[in-house]
Amino acid sequence: MNFNVAGDRLVNEIEELALMSDAEAPAVTRVVFTPTDLKAREWLIARCEKAGLAVRQDAIGNIFARWTGFQPSAPAVGTGSHIDAIPNAGKYDGVVGVLGGLEAIRSLQASGFRPKHSIELLVFTSEEPTRFGIGCLGSRLLSRTITAASARKLVDKEGVSLEEVRRDAGFKGQLEDVPLPDGYYKAFVELHIEQGPLLERQKVPLGIVTQIAAPATLRLSIEGAGGHAGGVLMPDRKDALCAAAELILAIENAARTSGAADTVATVGICEVFPGAVNSIPSRVQLSADIRDTVLGRRDAVMYAIEAACQSIAAKRQVSIRKELLNADAPAHCAPAIIEALSRACLKHQLLYVPMVSRAYHDSLFMSRVTPAAMLFIPCRNGYSHRPDEYASPEDIARGVLVLADTLATLAS
Ligand SMILES: [Zn+2]
Repeated sequence: MNFNVAGDRLVNEIEELALMSDAEAPAVTRVVFTPTDLKAREWLIARCEKAGLAVRQDAIGNIFARWTGFQPSAPAVGTGSHIDAIPNAGKYDGVVGVLGGLEAIRSLQASGFRPKHSIELLVFTSEEPTRFGIGCLGSRLLSRTITAASARKLVDKEGVSLEEVRRDAGFKGQLEDVPLPDGYYKAFVELHIEQGPLLERQKVPLGIVTQIAAPATLRLSIEGAGGHAGGVLMPDRKDALCAAAELILAIENAARTSGAADTVATVGICEVFPGAVNSIPSRVQLSADIRDTVLGRRDAVMYAIEAACQSIAAKRQVSIRKELLNADAPAHCAPAIIEALSRACLKHQLLYVPMVSRAYHDSLFMSRVTPAAMLFIPCRNGYSHRPDEYASPEDIARGVLVLADTLATLAS
């Protein structure tokens, strides 16, 4: 089978979609279910229909665009990603997997290929946590990682519930109907920019993802005793911020000493009360993100943090409360899809490296209900989630070529 990827058409579409933004170009802001997001969805659906795909949307707004195979009852082969973008983001995160997936389908159609299994483009709702505080909302619901009941409790920053927002956006079905039936997909492949610098540094055009790391998120509340910065002498203090400082370093140390490069831990939020220069901090709230590709190793870091909480609390006479906000399990990608991807790379004489996805993606959740894998292309300097995010047309075209070939193999 021979086919051509229409790189120009794809690049033009990426540019066109980037203009549907609530930020000034080149920045892209497209938050889920805003008028801008709805306009982009409509535009995208029109392109899918133009390609002859049968489009449906579920109750959370996941878009399914299907090229029906000659054995329509067989499980479909899925590909796709997301088009929502955090404030002040770039053009390529998610979009490469959506428009690239569409281009892969169109190039297969143009080649005369006829799939046995249907090939379906899937556009996930709210991969970014911007509006409802939880990432991968669409794929979490599809994979039953979140129940309809807990999704209904979500509210945005204005206090408007997900139920209200999605119904206003025109999605009126029941969230209970979103989960995919067993065996819906035979395989799922997501094309994505790397969002890190490794491919570019190694001068390799493609990365085949073998594992997807997953975060556990902790909220740590440290309660000490406040007081006048002049009046309370050092032996009498229960300074919550000093305790927090020790805890932050203990968290860093727990990840550093895990023995694996894949273990990472970050304290990204530190809120200090009351936050006055002449007042001893009485209360501190920290948020920590701990990631790994191996669940046992990540758990070991969590135990180390627990032990640190206990010893620091005793030593500094403060109380430390720990809340686990979320703990998604990391995933291994499906060997059969990894093999199909690597064969496609070999066939087109393209170098690739196996890699770990350190960011999480909808594929992490899809992997719970179907064999899944990801294909990475380089992005300049590893930049992502910023307006100067960039992937070259050549790199995108190579990714689409390998994706199309892989879809053809899986759908035959
Ligand atoms: Zn993404």
